[in-house]
Amino acid sequence: MKTRITASAEGEGEQKMKTTRSERSIHASGNSTQDECGSRNAFTLIELLVVIAIIAILASLLLPTLSRAKTMAAITKCKSNERQMVLALTMYVSDSQAYPYAQLHNQCSYSAGKRAIDWFDCLGSYLANPKWGEGVFRCPSYKWRVSEIDSAPGGSYAYNARGTRVFLGTSEAPIVSAGLGWNYFPSNCGLAPWTTMRPVRESDVKVPVDMYALGDAPVDYWNDLGWTMGEIGYWGFNDMALKKMSHPRVFNMAFVDGHVESVRTNNLSFWWGANPTYQRRWNNDNQP
Ligand SMILES: [Zn+2]
Repeated sequence: MKTRITASAEGEGEQKMKTTRSERSIHASGNSTQDECGSRNAFTLIELLVVIAIIAILASLLLPTLSRAKTMAAITKCKSNERQMVLALTMYVSDSQAYPYAQLHNQCSYSAGKRAIDWFDCLGSYLANPKWGEGVFRCPSYKWRVSEIDSAPGGSYAYNARGTRVFLGTSEAPIVSAGLGWNYFPSNCGLAPWTTMRPVRESDVKVPVDMYALGDAPVDYWNDLGWTMGEIGYWGFNDMALKKMSHPRVFNMAFVDGHVESVRTNNLSFWWGANPTYQRRWNNDNQP
């Protein structure tokens, strides 16, 4: 009997403790009904919408910055490609004592296949032979066609083949491309004199620091093909070509001395009424 009374007393003690805990909990929360429902801790729809709106605003602020960073990264990679190409060009000139022709033909007409030696073929052996349109031979922002056929070679980069003039001098005097060398056909083909002009030598380039060697190709508007052979006409005056360019508002241009600049489209100048300061950069005599 004594034992039972003790147990009952313990039971009452437990009950008292539970009540005390419960009271404490009510005091702590201040409102036991809301705690049980959990509604106090949930987001309302308005709060959720505000958070979403803030995230959207932050994203809209960040996205242009990210896109600009991506554009700048592509420009940097492209400049690095051009730097490697123009160094390869320097090595070629050092070995061959002349600049490569844009296209050196071994037959008297343009082939529909790949037979001619293009300027990029001459650079390839100094660049571990990347395929045309790949590796160093591809601007990361170029997204148009690549072709190696002689009648319409095209791709990411272009060579300053003829400057703003087809040739200097007359047919009696030695004639040479105003750029770094245009198309050469075998001399017995009976073609126009400019098709057999001599190669451009290192000494022909009067101001290497102020002459374009190669750069981002202007893209043919209709054929989606980057010109591999450059002249001011293709780079500058063709408004339609300028609607398809690798980088917004600029062409990366490598100079004969090896440095590379991002040149604004307007400063590549136009064929007619061009600013002589910009126009002379196309020609090996540094004249407009
Ligand atoms: Zn580029």
